[in-house]
Amino acid sequence: MWGYWAGTQFFIGKLDAPDMRRVTLGILLASGLFSLLWHANNSWLAPASAMAIGVIMLWSGSRLIPVESRYRLLGMTLMLRGGFNILAAATLNPDMYVVWFVGTTVLKILSMLGLVYAVQDEIQQRYARTIDSLSHGFLIRDRRGYVHVANERCAKLLGFNSAQELIGLHVCDLLPNLTREMADQYFRRFEAEGVQYPLSDTAVMRLRNGNSLPVELLGSPYIERGRMYCLVQLLDISERKKKDDLLYQAARIDPVTGFFNRHALSLRLAQEVAHAAAAGRECAVLFIDLDKFKRVNDSFGHAAGDELLRTAANRLHGLLRPCDVLARFGGDEFIVIIPDLAPNSAEQMAGDCADAIIAAMGRGFELSYHAISVTASVGIACYPNHGTDSDTLIRCADIAMYEAKKAGRGERRVFNDAMNAAAKDGLVIDGALAGAVEANEFYLVYQAIVNAHTGKLTKVEALLRWNSPLLGPVSPDRFIPVAEDSGMIIPLGTWVLEQACRQVAAWKRSALDDVTISINVSAWQLADPDFLKLVSQALIGNGLSPHQLELELTERVLIEDAANVQAVLAQLRALGVGVSLDDFGTGYSSLSYLTQFHLNTLKIDRAFVMDIEHSERSHNLVHAIIAMGHSLGLQLVAEGVETAGQAAILEKMGCHYLQGYHISRPIPPDELLRFADARRSLAPAVNSDFSI
Ligand code: C2E
Ligand code: CA
Ligand code: CA
Repeated sequence: MWGYWAGTQFFIGKLDAPDMRRVTLGILLASGLFSLLWHANNSWLAPASAMAIGVIMLWSGSRLIPVESRYRLLGMTLMLRGGFNILAAATLNPDMYVVWFVGTTVLKILSMLGLVYAVQDEIQQRYARTIDSLSHGFLIRDRRGYVHVANERCAKLLGFNSAQELIGLHVCDLLPNLTREMADQYFRRFEAEGVQYPLSDTAVMRLRNGNSLPVELLGSPYIERGRMYCLVQLLDISERKKKDDLLYQAARIDPVTGFFNRHALSLRLAQEVAHAAAAGRECAVLFIDLDKFKRVNDSFGHAAGDELLRTAANRLHGLLRPCDVLARFGGDEFIVIIPDLAPNSAEQMAGDCADAIIAAMGRGFELSYHAISVTASVGIACYPNHGTDSDTLIRCADIAMYEAKKAGRGERRVFNDAMNAAAKDGLVIDGALAGAVEANEFYLVYQAIVNAHTGKLTKVEALLRWNSPLLGPVSPDRFIPVAEDSGMIIPLGTWVLEQACRQVAAWKRSALDDVTISINVSAWQLADPDFLKLVSQALIGNGLSPHQLELELTERVLIEDAANVQAVLAQLRALGVGVSLDDFGTGYSSLSYLTQFHLNTLKIDRAFVMDIEHSERSHNLVHAIIAMGHSLGLQLVAEGVETAGQAAILEKMGCHYLQGYHISRPIPPDELLRFADARRSLAPAVNSDFSI
């Protein structure tokens, strides 16, 4: 009785676990009392207790039925049993024992089934509520891959209306990249030795609407009635994926242009090289450098610089095939990878591509507030001819680009081994140059420039010499480009200017009094905002008059930074300093430079003078240059005069000055002074056909 009461109270939630201990104690006491009474042989005890149990069963059943539907069967059978018990107690006689026994047994079985159903339903509901309350998707699959259980969250994640729709589906229906074999294999992983649960995998699931969802799958095994199942948690990782993508972007995408950055480029090139190696193919790397970018940045600001980079990158991209790769390597440097090329075709393809790039960059750029003209220099390196790994290929393409740049703007060069040697040489020189000015490793030699007609020593060119304790004597053709590259040319050029002016001052009141000193100046120096100040300081500090100084510039200096150079040259002219165009005829030789800039002197390059006696072409060319110089009011100096014949021809053509080994090699100042002294004593004898 007490048990029925307590059980009912427990089911309807009015009794909890601690109370059950008291109930158990009560049941034990009641049982003790019952057995005492039983032994006392009270004949009324059996019908009375059956009656009382019947009443309590009726009560229990009536309490259970309205509570929840799952208790209805239990409640009804209890009420039936209660009614049957009361009836049996009232009509108890031995003839009815069989009926009573059968009826009680049937009703007992029914109430047991009702109890089992109620408990099982409760467990199932609790379990369903638990998995539905999980914030992750959850499903249970069997060994073959069929879904047995799924929660609502899982249905929602995958775009199904209810979890029920998922039951019976195969995991391959949900994971497009999964094959049946892979689904079968999955359980093997649980059986592997030392495996840790849950197994974590990322996958892309197919949603009902056809979209896909990145998920993390956490799988743990569980065994139910001897069969292994897998509990799978599904974590929606689309947000995480977005963050990962952002990080990926930050790590691999150049923020200005939106194309690959240096890091991504290296990785990609390594892949392309591996692919080419496996497939017996070639690939090409183009190193592209935009000239003038720095100046755009400096003059118009970073926004304009960025806009130029973006526009240039898009224009470059427009020239490429879909499989080609474009990356911004840094500053104004871009790299293009042309992958998967047929054997022996890479150089040709890369050359064609470089030509298209140079042409496209040369078309000029209309930015928001400025129109800018830019040129590109392109270096090419190919796999496998020039390198078999990405670093080497990039380095070779860089070296080739540098060579292209040296050859002038808008050029392209394919890498070769000689370039590599030059680059290595450059590194060694660069190291040795550091501190060389302070260590007094430099000195100047002077080469006479004489009047072609009178033979009078009028000018001297200062030529730099370097005696490195490490490398021995290094020619300026080797170290000047390295010093220009490292910026070292600025202090070095300042030293030359100061040293040469001091030397001219020292020659005062000697045979070299009033000589004009010619100094070679590189583009970097001219771009230095302090340059004009340094020039006037050198003049004033050494008491020289400005006409005693002439600066030698090459055509490259003029075109590289035309606007700035023009301004500096105008100021030099205002100061009274002469400007000479060196190596004329070797570079761009555009007449417009001669009129556009304030020049005093043209120096005809040695290359033409050399052949003047034997080559009609050189002869005619030098003749034309001299005639043109005359018409522009320029003084003409012929360089590299090595023979009396050359000197005579040049003089006849009207060249004003001669310089070369025929007159004097570049020599130290005291030697030059002796040379000048000797000439002065000769001077009266010198006439138009002088010889030395
Ligand atoms: P450059 O200005 O054309 O100098 C003339 C070069 O021709 C000098 O070479 C000189 O020694 C050489 N030379 C003169 N006469 C003859 C001749 O008759 N035959 C031959 N074969 N060569 C002759 P160097 O001294 O080796 O200078 C090479 C270049 O280095 C110069 O060419 C100049 O561009 C540069 N350089 C020299 N000194 C300086 C400097 O102080 N500053 C800068 N920025 N560059 C310098
Ligand atoms: Ca020169
Ligand atoms: Ca020269």
